[in-house]
Amino acid sequence: MTKLIKNGRIITADADYVADIFIEGEIITAIGKTLQMHADETIDATGMLIFPGGIDPHVHLSMPFMGTFSSDDYTTGTRAALYGGTTTVIDFILQKQGNSLRAAFDEWRGRATGNAVGDYSFHMAVTDFNDSTKGEIKEMVEEGITSFKTFMAYKGALMIDDRQMIGLMDEVKQQGGMVTVHATNGDMIDYLVQKHRVEGKLSPLYHYLSQPEVTEAEASERFADMTNYTECPGYIVHLTCEGALNAVRNATRRNQKVFVETCIQYLTIDASLYEREDGAKWVMSPPLREKKDQATLWAGINQGLVQVVGTDHCPFKWEQKLMGKDDFSKIPNGHPAIEHRMELLFSEGVVKGKISLNKYVEVTSTNPAKIFGMFPRKGTIGIGCDADLVIFDPAEKHTITASSHHMNVDYSAYEGWELTGKVKTVLLRGQVAINNNECLIDKGYGQFVKRKKVSQNI
Ligand SMILES: [Zn+2]
Repeated sequence: MTKLIKNGRIITADADYVADIFIEGEIITAIGKTLQMHADETIDATGMLIFPGGIDPHVHLSMPFMGTFSSDDYTTGTRAALYGGTTTVIDFILQKQGNSLRAAFDEWRGRATGNAVGDYSFHMAVTDFNDSTKGEIKEMVEEGITSFKTFMAYKGALMIDDRQMIGLMDEVKQQGGMVTVHATNGDMIDYLVQKHRVEGKLSPLYHYLSQPEVTEAEASERFADMTNYTECPGYIVHLTCEGALNAVRNATRRNQKVFVETCIQYLTIDASLYEREDGAKWVMSPPLREKKDQATLWAGINQGLVQVVGTDHCPFKWEQKLMGKDDFSKIPNGHPAIEHRMELLFSEGVVKGKISLNKYVEVTSTNPAKIFGMFPRKGTIGIGCDADLVIFDPAEKHTITASSHHMNVDYSAYEGWELTGKVKTVLLRGQVAINNNECLIDKGYGQFVKRKKVSQNI
């Protein structure tokens, strides 16, 4: 099967031009002005922007949590992602403390295989680093899982201490991988959560007040110091605030590079939501921050200190959120965003003049592909790349609402938001996956993306 996309305005991280794209099977094989090839199908993209398929490197699908699961599975989650122009997601495998990495990998692979609509890959969350786990790092890299997530919080479940962290960094560096981190001071947070509970301060606002900026800033600095010492490539997930970004900025003064991801919510919504009756919708960790932190993050993107905008998509239905109606510490953490990252960032970032079109592509697609070893197969538009393409109307206005979104959750964290710019058609490896609000591919089409070893030199 061949396809010809005519007259679209192609935007990559470093180019902007009008041309035709010719696709054979899953791959782009020609790009040029007024291509003359015959194609089985022709798509007219006049007046439209064409972006490389979005890559969301931070999602949690069917994630086990407090006896329940995040409400999007591989089918609903990757399909909702496609509706919003995200063609590849990276989910987190969570090792169970006491068990092997391999056991966790098999469990997650079992859930994803045959069920994903869009393409996916995995990070491996190492929650118990010991001699036997150490031996598995090489195996995981050979499987194409080259990034290893760590938690500096959730003691007794997910957290590793600094001794394990250093050991893991040494091994991951040897094997050509990267260590990523939820950077926060878990002990400080545990103390504040208990203090607030004893004082009877149980509303969602105290979720926020139990994780002050300093908890994230301190841990980000510690993580940067440890990666500097071990020379292991490091990446901070969902960075939210000025103090944490300044820790990264300080690290650059000794010529260090630490990769930083923020998420769409930290750029667009703030902690005032916790004072609302339905504040549990935005209970996530780290919590939403202040307006000054949003300003820092937008600046950080333009300064090149923040390379990636993900979502930390981890939806729970309202009835699941009600598990914590009398105690903020029992509210499942996370919010739904996988579908709206691309459109929200375009409307709030590009349309409002905060970032350029090229920067938009860089942080939603190109940088995640480069940092996580998928470039240039994914993350750009070029000859030989997977034909993962988003045809986007930059002028169409629409409103986000739970009644029409495709995520398996009964509310939207952005209900009623009016956006400018809409995903019209999405191609995944040459197949039209989404066209005019209809999904045209089935579960099982999505493939596991085996990733390459990583480098700090993107
Ligand atoms: Zn997460």
